[in-house]
Amino acid sequence: MSEETVSPKGKEYLSGWTPWRIKRYWFYGLVTVAALVIPWIRIEGNHLFLLSFDKLKLHLMFIQFDMQELYLMPFLLMILFIGIFGITVLGGRVFCGWMCPQTIFRVVYRDLIETKLLGLRKRIKNKQQEPDYSKPENKIKRVVALLIWTGLAFIAAADLMWYFVPPEDFLTYIQNPMEHTVLMGAIIIIVLFLVYDVIFLQENFCIYVCPYSRIQSVLYDEDTVMAIYNPNRGGEIYNENKEKLFTKQKDLLAVNSHAECTTCESCVTVCPTHIDIRKGLQLECINCLECVDACTEVMGKLGKPTLVEWSSEKETLFQKGKTHYLRPKIIGYAAILIIVSVILAMMGSKKEYMLLNINKENRLYSITTNNEGKTQVDNAYTFLLQNTLNEDHDYYFDVIAPAGMEGKIKIAEPEKPFKVKPGVVKKKVVVLYTDELLVNDDRKDTVIPITIKAYAVDAKDKVVVIRHSTFTFPRADMLK
Ligand code: SF4
Ligand code: SF4
Repeated sequence: MSEETVSPKGKEYLSGWTPWRIKRYWFYGLVTVAALVIPWIRIEGNHLFLLSFDKLKLHLMFIQFDMQELYLMPFLLMILFIGIFGITVLGGRVFCGWMCPQTIFRVVYRDLIETKLLGLRKRIKNKQQEPDYSKPENKIKRVVALLIWTGLAFIAAADLMWYFVPPEDFLTYIQNPMEHTVLMGAIIIIVLFLVYDVIFLQENFCIYVCPYSRIQSVLYDEDTVMAIYNPNRGGEIYNENKEKLFTKQKDLLAVNSHAECTTCESCVTVCPTHIDIRKGLQLECINCLECVDACTEVMGKLGKPTLVEWSSEKETLFQKGKTHYLRPKIIGYAAILIIVSVILAMMGSKKEYMLLNINKENRLYSITTNNEGKTQVDNAYTFLLQNTLNEDHDYYFDVIAPAGMEGKIKIAEPEKPFKVKPGVVKKKVVVLYTDELLVNDDRKDTVIPITIKAYAVDAKDKVVVIRHSTFTFPRADMLK
């Protein structure tokens, strides 16, 4: 339909209308910028998110966790999966159409490079017509498209690796590729996959490979919002066996004089997954809403609302009233998400900036006479201390004895703070002693609970851990 044939009502209908496609492009831009920028955001050397395999660290919200602290990972995965499941119940495959890198890459390659940049395809609105590669100039353009995409695939592969190798290290590593063959191999494999996937596999990845398409159908309910053709207004184009009944409007009108579908098939030609939305809900639909745009334009020119809506089956198909967004399932997903996030935040806030294991030596105690002629009881321990921060720190500790014994259990070794380098696990022999009569028991040794408060001397407020242990005091006759 040309511009001139658009009725005044149609012009009014379409004035100020912004296609979902344009909104999607803006969203793709945001997602892409976020994906590229997030790995570079650091505070005091800690990343917003980084799962560093070479340094065996998890950085989350600018806090660094050791591999021993990876108990947080299951919570992160739960948030990811519950979030995706919740979004699917609410908006179908909206993640696929609006955020998935596969879809974004395909839009960049097909719509930007092939169509807009090189003119290999005629129109963004026709995704069914493949480029004519029998023409020599198109063969050259195809090679150019492949080279451009390969370059972009390298950036995408590097960006992915920045979530596992700190970008600052990555830039150093790639200057010596022969010393970092695993990293280089990973990048090359990702690039090869992206070239094969985006140029050759195309949307077949979404339809046949992606496991998400398999599980999403069980998550849908009649309130799930997705692209839906309205057969009540447009007319039934397919029968129950999904066989097409009409290709011409006059045949459709002969059977259903109120049917509004013009059978223009704009909604079909624009579909990246090559389906006809008028057939009903299909697993292949990625909720990109291109068909909604197409029909909005066609019907809008006639001054009518679109026949393909972003709506729910309940509202459009069954006409049982408005879509129910805040339903028990959604509230349940939101509640679980909030609970898991709170648990994650609480566990993250209890993060200890040093790791300390205290092992008491097998020999319970030793009894000596000190320089002042007093009887001294020693207990020996092995401290395994790890500095999980990025810089050197000097560590020491206090011994907290139970009430009534305060200050009576003292440190014999080490006599002063000791330095531990970042990431290093230091083994330190510690001797505690007392030269006072802590307990007077003739029958048995007494096990006294003690608390060790270990800290970095130069960051006493932040780097501090509390551990519990025991001090064994001999029975009275041993001291004679
Ligand atoms: S774009 Fe609209 S009018 Fe055209 S075939 Fe699709 S549903 Fe019918
Ligand atoms: S039917 Fe096709 S064009 Fe319409 S939302 Fe689904 S994938 Fe997109």
